[in-house]
Amino acid sequence: MAKKQFKAESKKLLDLMINSIYTHKEIFLRELISNASDAIDKLYYQSLSEGLSGMNREDFSIRIDTDKEARTLTITDNGIGMTKEELEKNLGTIARSGSLDFKTAMQKNEDSEKSGESETVDIIGQFGVGFYSAFMVSDKVTVVSRAFGADEAWQWESTGADGYTVKEAEKPDHGTRITLVIKQDTEDERYTEFLEEYRIRSLVRRYSDYIRYPIQMMVEKSRPKETPEGAAETADGSPDKAPEYETYYELETLNSMIPLWKKQKSSLTDEDYNNFYREKYFDMAEPVKVIHTNVEGVLSYTALLYIPGQTPFNYYSKDFEKGLQLYSSGVMIMDKCPDLLPDYFSFVRGLVDSQDLSLNISREMLQHDRQLRAIAQRLEKKIKSELQELLAKDREKYAAFFKNFGLQLKYGVYEGYGMNKDKLQDLLIYYSSYDPSEAKAGGDQDAEEKASASRMVTLAEYVSRMKPEQKYIYYACGETNEKIDRMPQTEVLKDKGYEILYMTDDVDEFAVQMMREFDGKQFRNVSSDDLEIEETEEEKEAAKKQEEESRDLLAYLKECLDGKVTEVRLSQRLRNHPVCLTAKGGLSIEMEKVLNAMPMDEKVRADRVLEINASHPIAETLNQLYTSDKERLKTYARVLYDQALLIEGLQPEDPVAFSNAVCELMTK
Ligand code: ADP
Repeated sequence: MAKKQFKAESKKLLDLMINSIYTHKEIFLRELISNASDAIDKLYYQSLSEGLSGMNREDFSIRIDTDKEARTLTITDNGIGMTKEELEKNLGTIARSGSLDFKTAMQKNEDSEKSGESETVDIIGQFGVGFYSAFMVSDKVTVVSRAFGADEAWQWESTGADGYTVKEAEKPDHGTRITLVIKQDTEDERYTEFLEEYRIRSLVRRYSDYIRYPIQMMVEKSRPKETPEGAAETADGSPDKAPEYETYYELETLNSMIPLWKKQKSSLTDEDYNNFYREKYFDMAEPVKVIHTNVEGVLSYTALLYIPGQTPFNYYSKDFEKGLQLYSSGVMIMDKCPDLLPDYFSFVRGLVDSQDLSLNISREMLQHDRQLRAIAQRLEKKIKSELQELLAKDREKYAAFFKNFGLQLKYGVYEGYGMNKDKLQDLLIYYSSYDPSEAKAGGDQDAEEKASASRMVTLAEYVSRMKPEQKYIYYACGETNEKIDRMPQTEVLKDKGYEILYMTDDVDEFAVQMMREFDGKQFRNVSSDDLEIEETEEEKEAAKKQEEESRDLLAYLKECLDGKVTEVRLSQRLRNHPVCLTAKGGLSIEMEKVLNAMPMDEKVRADRVLEINASHPIAETLNQLYTSDKERLKTYARVLYDQALLIEGLQPEDPVAFSNAVCELMTK
């Protein structure tokens, strides 16, 4: 029989498996048991929703058999089974939801040249490796399956990457039987263990204890041989020789079958929760927060939610699917129910189990289900309050969480014209110019992290520290905190001791515009043309006088710039720097950059103002040139403008002209 080839991606995955980059080979058993359980779920669910008679939950089981001589391990289920087409589709290719994710991750991994093996492991760790993991421990895998309702059974067989065969087979009942021929032991790996009872028993307990169907195995037991009636006894009544033992076999259920979330909270440890999380979501990073809640009343449900400790690799891409697993009285009815989570909390993983949800419910109907909506609302409140508690109690941990998912919260503030801002703004934190720990952390990473976490402040904290005369919540936008530190625009604010929030995400300023104000205080960009800093009467007078005197010069400079700026003015905000660029109106230069980076035909342009430091020597030079050499002044004006652009991280419109102009000034 001609061998059929695996699809390209499958082959790649198989190679990875076989070359066992994935270190925990033992997980193959979990994967196969979980597939068996899913297959039973499917049939059980179908029987309930279609009202098939004569099917009870008790009838289902998963069976494990071993044969040490033949070196086979067999896993049998009486679930929904597979047709010939399904065998080919499901096992001949990774034609399943995860496949695309996997492909992109693999490509990404290949693209980054320097990536070592450890990264590959990490990536695989984020996926259900599924059926293919069988090849990590076996030389040959044989699957015999009969679909529920079908008359014939089929056998799929493969020895690995060189392809597979499919042929007709015999099987009296529906379901699937998977037989693995376990590899010979090597120096590094004792594969034979996977044929031993104690090992299988402990693997089932460890990884598959909560599976709701019995996982059964024939186990060897021994008991004292019954002594024949009336056997001779000695005078003191004790048997005259030691009792003889006999071995017998008994079908034993290895798992407790109670799902973790149905167990008493008090009986569960952090480790139980974390293990469950790791196994279910393939995430090696410990979750930041576990929320296990049991609600009884008009609406009863149990929820087990996790806030991940790292960002899923595809989180900020369109491939990411949000949602919680939905169970109805212990039966899984949907794998990712998106309606249970608002977009801004889409990072939450976990499940909801409720007896108030009908099993017999379609995806479309679920969306309008009152109960479901009520649960979603309660969960949202719960998640928010848990996050707030974390924020209040453990700033370092919260800062780590925010690093991963803060962006999503900011999008949440921005989206829908800010309709959710009231819910979310308390959860935002920003890096701030305010440094509570004057002590510098000298190279100690822990201390440094702590210090930087303590500089992440909430809006409420900012407002509570505002100076009595301070009108606005000041913020500065830039690529990095270091760059913002050096922004000329922040000089005077820092001088006055005003705190500044640093904003480095594209969405920041858009979110700020949606919030408009916090606790009655409006936001103001340090680069906006009017900071409204309180000045003394003398200062105001002096500034006005200066402005008057320079009026003609400033008008001329604006003319030289040929419509590039709306205004040239003397700056009140600069201390040491000669020039800076600010913007009038609602559109800042940072927003201009963000918007123009988007794939749109129309480009936007902020209303620019060139500010010149009146107390810098350059002001005097400009004044002199205005009377002595207007031509040269023109060059100065352009160079100053281009310098202001560079400070903003923008390109001079004509870099060559800029360079030439600078050289001209150097040489003449
Ligand atoms: P996953 O379980 O992540 O979808 P797998 O590679 O483990 O990926 O399995 C691929 C598909 O093969 C499953 O989605 C399922 O449709 C089918 N399958 C695997 N094992 C069984 C089984 N024991 N009974 C029925 N179908 C199965």
